[in-house]
Amino acid sequence: MLIRKAYKFRLKTNPALEQKLFRQAGCCRWVWNQVWWMNQRRLADKQRIIRYHEAAFWLSLWKQSEEYGFLREAHSQPLQQTLKDLDRAYRDGFDKNQPLKRLPRKKRKFRQAAFRYPQGVKLDNRRIYLPKLGWVGFFKSRDISGTVKNATVSYQAGHWYVSVQVEQALPERVHPSTTDVGVDLGVANFAALSNGITYDPINAYRKYQDQLARAQRALSRKVKCSANWRKQKRKIQQLHHKIACCRFVRQLDYKLDWRGWMLIKVPPHYTSQTCSVCGHVSPANRPTQAVFHCQACGHTEHADTNAAKNIRARGHRVLACGGRVQSDCPVKQEPVGSREAVPPTTSTEGAGIPVL
Ligand SMILES: [Zn+2]
Repeated sequence: MLIRKAYKFRLKTNPALEQKLFRQAGCCRWVWNQVWWMNQRRLADKQRIIRYHEAAFWLSLWKQSEEYGFLREAHSQPLQQTLKDLDRAYRDGFDKNQPLKRLPRKKRKFRQAAFRYPQGVKLDNRRIYLPKLGWVGFFKSRDISGTVKNATVSYQAGHWYVSVQVEQALPERVHPSTTDVGVDLGVANFAALSNGITYDPINAYRKYQDQLARAQRALSRKVKCSANWRKQKRKIQQLHHKIACCRFVRQLDYKLDWRGWMLIKVPPHYTSQTCSVCGHVSPANRPTQAVFHCQACGHTEHADTNAAKNIRARGHRVLACGGRVQSDCPVKQEPVGSREAVPPTTSTEGAGIPVL
């Protein structure tokens, strides 16, 4: 099994290097915004938008011009990659099958700076070669194995990072467990399993809430765009970064896959209102947020555990039908997703996974 994995490291920078990094990121942002503006005008005039090849042609013209000659200082591949990313963002934004995707927006200065090298990156123990920037040291917090595919350089909360994507060959794995479990993701409980176990939320935001509020109040007392305002802004960004690091959500999906487990996502419709014993569906089955009480058979249980049991049963149906349950029907419950994990053995064990 070939998998792609990313390693993220903090770069060892100095003021001269930082200036070059900001310049490269700035050129990428300029190119994105320039094509974005052209497309905004075209959309307003009900014309077809600029696709990648036309945008790349414009880029070559700008590079040759006097006015936009500063683009020649930047490496061309991250600039082209920016145009490809913008093109992809438009395609996703107009794709009716991806209703949650919206059209790309203008990139703003000071928000986030990032650019990606699709190739040409080399690794040498504690150094990375970034085309046009040369060898840059990084804080090597873990070993890297696999073939380097691409690298993204980004600026977050006052530091520059490089995220290296590698391709690794993993042997096919079969998980030894033979059980399964349904998982309901909630607000009161982080996750409730169909076997009755519940997990408390890891509420990273609540933990840092007071600190964040204090920092934001301090920011409001400072003159906008002043040196102190920027310093305070960086402190807030660092707090947000900390909170984001505590949430681990997306990775579990593919990590389960590596271990030979199987994760089945099922639509959570009505799972909170359905009785896991007799199948009776009614909003009246939920007298409170936490309690499930069936109006038909009298079955009483913790509401999230009951929902997890329904999710497990739904996962079995998906396995039996050999496909996925489509989630195109209206959702009539809390707006949370639910999933079930099963290893590819005859029956099952699982783990419960949160959804954003
Ligand atoms: Zn019932």
